[in-house]
Amino acid sequence: MFHNESSLGHRANRNRVDAFISGVAAEPVAVASAQSQAFLAQRSGASLVVNTMTGNPAYLEGKLSMTMTGTAADASRSFLMENPGILGLSAEDTEELTDVDSFEWGGLKFIRRQQTHQGLPVFGASVLVGVDDKNQVRIVTSGLRSQISVKPGETAISLKEARQIARKDLGEAVELRGGITHKTVLYPTQKGHVRVYHLTVPAETPLGDWEYFIDVQNGEIVDSYNSMKFHSFYFAPRARVYSENPEETPLKTVMLRDVKSPYNKLDGQYCKVINEDAPGAVASSNYRFDFPPEDTHFDECQVYYAVEKVYQYFLDLGFRGFTVNNPYGKVNAGQLAANVHTRTNYDNAYYSPGTGQIYFGDGSYPRNPGGLRDLAKEVDIVAHEFTHAVIDEYHPGMFGSEGLALHEGYADYFACSLLNDPDLGEYVVPAPEKAGMIRNCDNDLKYSETSTEPHDRGQVWAGACWHLRKKLGQEVADFLIFGSMFLLGTTSPTFKYAKDMLLLVDQYWCGGEYKATIKRIFETERGIPV
Ligand SMILES: [Zn+2]
Repeated sequence: MFHNESSLGHRANRNRVDAFISGVAAEPVAVASAQSQAFLAQRSGASLVVNTMTGNPAYLEGKLSMTMTGTAADASRSFLMENPGILGLSAEDTEELTDVDSFEWGGLKFIRRQQTHQGLPVFGASVLVGVDDKNQVRIVTSGLRSQISVKPGETAISLKEARQIARKDLGEAVELRGGITHKTVLYPTQKGHVRVYHLTVPAETPLGDWEYFIDVQNGEIVDSYNSMKFHSFYFAPRARVYSENPEETPLKTVMLRDVKSPYNKLDGQYCKVINEDAPGAVASSNYRFDFPPEDTHFDECQVYYAVEKVYQYFLDLGFRGFTVNNPYGKVNAGQLAANVHTRTNYDNAYYSPGTGQIYFGDGSYPRNPGGLRDLAKEVDIVAHEFTHAVIDEYHPGMFGSEGLALHEGYADYFACSLLNDPDLGEYVVPAPEKAGMIRNCDNDLKYSETSTEPHDRGQVWAGACWHLRKKLGQEVADFLIFGSMFLLGTTSPTFKYAKDMLLLVDQYWCGGEYKATIKRIFETERGIPV
């Protein structure tokens, strides 16, 4: 999940291997090239594609051999022994290929062979040979390296020392999840291959399966990276959406994270979208949700994208998900259901505590000149409704005019903080009405100047929170403000009560560092009772 990914910024993410491999760039290996042409001349319809980064063949395809005797593994081995030059290998190199895997796919049997050199595996170098049911070789894909040179020298670092080097590199706070495993391999660098200890370090802190490649001669960390597959890096379909709204941001292609397999419907771990006008959108065969903004399915993609973005933001703040009190999420593993095209020309969006779902109307503008534009197309509106659902998850049925005003104030604040923009509803309100927005968090409204209407008085809370954010920065302010909402000990809180929760969060978690700032902004400047 997104909030587990802080380790992605750790210095141990060296990831040098791509540059190393591309650094070996060369002309197609001459011998391979000449032999390849002769090979292809004898096999009509066969093709060979060279990897321009390495100069070696990337793949061969076609009827590459006659029917061979023995098993598929025998056929693949014979093929490689007979044609080493095509793959840029010498006969001796070919002797050092070892079988490591085999599997069937698409009507072919594939055998994978690992390249070894002087008895050591060449890291990442292998060849895959596909053999058909007539025992003819049909496909060869290769990551083999030719003319391997190894940096000369003796082993001077022990395995124990290598482990210490890796642990030290992971930092003081390193905490393991299991034992460190090791192999000795040849690792590619721009100066040839280096004998290294390849250590896999399963760590809880920093979270990851850290792969280390440490030079056996001098203990230098040749490369390191995290091989853990984080959730948000899983496969995701693409869609074209607005990152904020149609007025301020162009359409762009995004990845719709956490969509469930088979990845062609807007049904994910965190969000399910319901189109009230039509059956749900289905992705194209290449996993693309590509609908123009006027298409009924566009809003489904837009709202899925927005909900995912907001959900991850709140998870990052410590939100537990819609798992206990939300009627829909409770039976759907925390999923939030979002409805688009709600009612007809409806000029609003809402969260329903009864269903636990959020809803977005299409708006009535321009048919009704005083109406709004499509509310689904603005991320801050999705974030606002989402925040109502978050508060309701922790404090179901919050009531009282100030309780409702706090609901609105928190919803405005988090929507603006997420997007780093204090203006709300800039797209849905057609300018110049209301200066082209619904509300502005960057306001100076005082408690005594506002009515008890929740959205009106809520602006005082949102404004004070926004000024706290301007003073302390987003991370600290979001932490304090989310904490104050979380800690509310009553379902009918007043502004004074919520402000006191802010002071409590500060006192307990920050040692009172921000007390004077909170009191100045919320009490002195806004007039919220002391
Ligand atoms: Zn609201």
